[in-house]
Amino acid sequence: MEIINVMEEVVDQRLKVLTKDAGCCTCDQCLEDMMCLALNSLPAKYVSTSKGKLFSKLSTTMISQHTIDVNIACVNAIEFVKERPRHGESGQE
Ligand SMILES: [Zn+2]
Repeated sequence: MEIINVMEEVVDQRLKVLTKDAGCCTCDQCLEDMMCLALNSLPAKYVSTSKGKLFSKLSTTMISQHTIDVNIACVNAIEFVKERPRHGESGQE
């Protein structure tokens, strides 16, 4: 059995769409930063994935229930990273 945060999947999917519209950088560093920022501002939704089908079903439900919140969190995260991209900085970790 595995416990995962459904929000990670939801935010990941949202960011892929929104970053295209925003025309912002989508390197690994920026995407990870956006993921962290967005997820930190959203409630975590943990589910058990002992059955894979349960996950996709719940995930879809979560998306419809939290679309607005997720959109706001993602847009805010994109704007933040856009202003302060960490890629290319010295001391990359
Ligand atoms: Zn970048």
